Amino acid sequence: MMSLEEIRQNVIDCTKCSLAKTRTHSVPGKGNFHSDVIFVGEAPGRNEDLKGEPFVGVAGKKLSLALEEAGITRDEVYITNTVKCRPPNNRVPNNEEKQMCSNYIEKEIEIINPKIICVLGNTAFGSILGGSEITKYRGKVARKGNQLYFITVHPAATIYNQELIQILKQDIKKLFQIIRELKNGKQVIVDIEFTS
Ligand code: SF4
Repeated sequence: MMSLEEIRQNVIDCTKCSLAKTRTHSVPGKGNFHSDVIFVGEAPGRNEDLKGEPFVGVAGKKLSLALEEAGITRDEVYITNTVKCRPPNNRVPNNEEKQMCSNYIEKEIEIINPKIICVLGNTAFGSILGGSEITKYRGKVARKGNQLYFITVHPAATIYNQELIQILKQDIKKLFQIIRELKNGKQVIVDIEFTS
C-alpha cells in the first residue's frame, strides 16, 4: 500500500488533468495521519494554490475557529479536498477533473481509515456521496458502504454570513460528540443511507 507521504509527492508532481497547467501549486492533504476524522472540501482556493496547503485562507480560519470552539486544534485532524488543484477563478471542478483526481482521496481514506468523514459543502457532498441540497442535509450523519460521513456547510460560505458560522460551529461540536460516542463503542444514529 502507498504511504501518505508517497501520495503527497504524487499530488505535488501530478499532471493528470488540465488543472496542472493553471495551478501555482497542487494542494495535498495535510494533518494528523491518525485522525479519527478527515475533513474534505471541494478544491483549493486562491490562498491554498499560492501556499500549497489546504484551508489556509479566510475559509480556513473559519474552520479553525469552529474546531477551536469544539476544543480541537487543526493539528489533531486531517484536512484535504476532493480535487487537489485550484480550478481557474474558483469554478466548480468538472467531472473529468473530479474523476482524474479521485484516486488520491480514495487512497487517503483507505490509509487513514477514519471513524467518520466530514464533508464540507455542496460540491464535496455531490462528489463523495452523490448528494445535493446541503442546507437540507447538514448536521446529519450518512452512511455509504461501511463508511460514516457527517455533512456540513463549506467554511467559505460562512465568511459573510453570521447565521452560517453559528451553524458550522454547532455542526462541528456535534461531529466531535459523535466521534466521542463512536470511540466509546456507542451506536450512532444514521440519518441517511447512500448506496455505493
Ligand atoms: S487536480 Fe488532481 S488529477 Fe488534476 S493535476 Fe491536480 S492532482 Fe492531478
